[in-house]
Amino acid sequence: MSDYNIREAFEKIEDELIDSMMRNFSRHRAEETKEGYNWTQWQAEQLKSLEEYRNHNAKKFGKRFKTINSKVEEMIRTAKADGSSDQEAEILETVMNEFKPPEKPSAHSTGEFFKVNERKLDALVKSTTDDLKRAETAVLRMSNDKYRKAIFNAQVAMNTGAVTYEQAVDIACKDMLNAGLNCVEYKNGARHTLSDYADMAVKTANKRAYLRGEGEKRAEWGVSLVVVNSRQGGCPDCAKYIGKVFIDDVYSNGKKSDGNYPLLSTAIKKGLFHPRCKDSTSTYYEEITTLEPVSPEEEAEMDRRERLEEKQQYAQRQAERFDRRAEYSLDEDNKRIAQTRADEWHDRADRLEEKAKRFSLKTDEQKYYRPVFKEDISKTFERKIEGETITIDTRKANTLCDNVYISDKVKLKRKELHDFDMQVRKAFDMLGEVETSGKPDICIISPEEMRVNAIASYMPMQNVLNVNSAYFSTSDLSDLQENLACPQDGLSTILHELIHWQDAKNYRAKFGGINDYFEYCDYLNKIYAPKVEKLINNGYNIEDISEYAFECLKDKAMDEVYNEYRVSKLLG
Ligand SMILES: [Zn+2]
Ligand SMILES: [Zn+2]
Repeated sequence: MSDYNIREAFEKIEDELIDSMMRNFSRHRAEETKEGYNWTQWQAEQLKSLEEYRNHNAKKFGKRFKTINSKVEEMIRTAKADGSSDQEAEILETVMNEFKPPEKPSAHSTGEFFKVNERKLDALVKSTTDDLKRAETAVLRMSNDKYRKAIFNAQVAMNTGAVTYEQAVDIACKDMLNAGLNCVEYKNGARHTLSDYADMAVKTANKRAYLRGEGEKRAEWGVSLVVVNSRQGGCPDCAKYIGKVFIDDVYSNGKKSDGNYPLLSTAIKKGLFHPRCKDSTSTYYEEITTLEPVSPEEEAEMDRRERLEEKQQYAQRQAERFDRRAEYSLDEDNKRIAQTRADEWHDRADRLEEKAKRFSLKTDEQKYYRPVFKEDISKTFERKIEGETITIDTRKANTLCDNVYISDKVKLKRKELHDFDMQVRKAFDMLGEVETSGKPDICIISPEEMRVNAIASYMPMQNVLNVNSAYFSTSDLSDLQENLACPQDGLSTILHELIHWQDAKNYRAKFGGINDYFEYCDYLNKIYAPKVEKLINNGYNIEDISEYAFECLKDKAMDEVYNEYRVSKLLG
């Protein structure tokens, strides 16, 4: 359960909301007449799309939100159970070694405490999920509002100067793409996205639940002294508490009379355990625990690190902002410029992260950037070639397409993967494939694993698209694609293979599956032969498409011929 990533789940939803809005803009252009664009008609159409967008999203995401919310509840309850069992193991170990515990309090005297504790946990679950639900409603409302505003602002943008339809839409959507769907306002007035907010809120709730679980065990044993420690490097603001002993009157049923120490509730009131606090507590065993307050040097180091982290987070946010503009802007120039800026900020964020890592304090718990791999999902593929079976071990990549796997033999940079991800999405778009179901697993493999000299190949029986990692290392793809349609276009092969995938998908939809490979090829030939014939009858010269198309025509592989024709139409 702990491996469920709330931030990612919400990021995906935000991406989908923005994505389908921008697709609507790109699919239904305003009509250009002699007098200029016909905005009235376009706006009426877009408002209709907005209505569909709103209804569709409420239904689709309502379901997903419910699932996430119940996961959040489960996570909080699990965190409490974890805290409790971790603490029990720790106390038992200490008791075995050197600690003489006080007499356990009677069940009668702690009964009320446990009841209240349960109620407090329920209240924590309720307030966390209630807040989350409010934010979820807000993100849908905001996406509708932004959509509506853009519909009207596009015309305004158009009137300000000589811009194309695409540029006008980009101007109208720029603020939204820059900020993301920042639908949650914090007390200090700053606005955050749902994913940012949820990440913070759920981490904070989990931590409180964990502390509550630990505290419950302590209460059971009749111990209530805790010491503040720093598990993740500590925050400078809380440095003054580190290494200090407190009576835990918040989670562990401690009372003033338990010793000559301050109460934890006072420190919490003054700011300890604020959201995203890196500090925590552990049980203080008198005469056993050694206290290590923070030295001035350590505090200075915490300060430096925190400043670096802030800079890094800023760079990361900038990178994400330009990523969004690169991905969703309609105008090609806008896309390109944003991509360059995104790359610069990503580099800067990566460098700062390296720098922050060099500090002696542990940073392994913190991840600021999107890693190349998604959690740690591994999958093994088999590739049959020339009668031999090649086994390919892969890990799932962190992509928007969400179906990309990278062979253990291949090393990719984040940016390379990101670019590829965008290319693949573009190819799916060109083919009019918006549904996520039935997409192939895309497997990036080494040239040795590919065996044949091809950039990509689709296996219809397994529904797997293999991509040769040479695709990423070659600066000039036209050499590798020279026999194919539009060889200078990086998309040529990918598009070609995805057309094969589309054929297979349609076949599966019609016949339930591909059971006999040759039967499948025959079927395709029957479908495509008349289409190719029609091209030729209309005076189309197959040789002009590509050398490969011409070869296939001679071999009577009609699906290949027509596939190449489609590539040349889509990219030409
Ligand atoms: Zn703190
Ligand atoms: Zn082919």
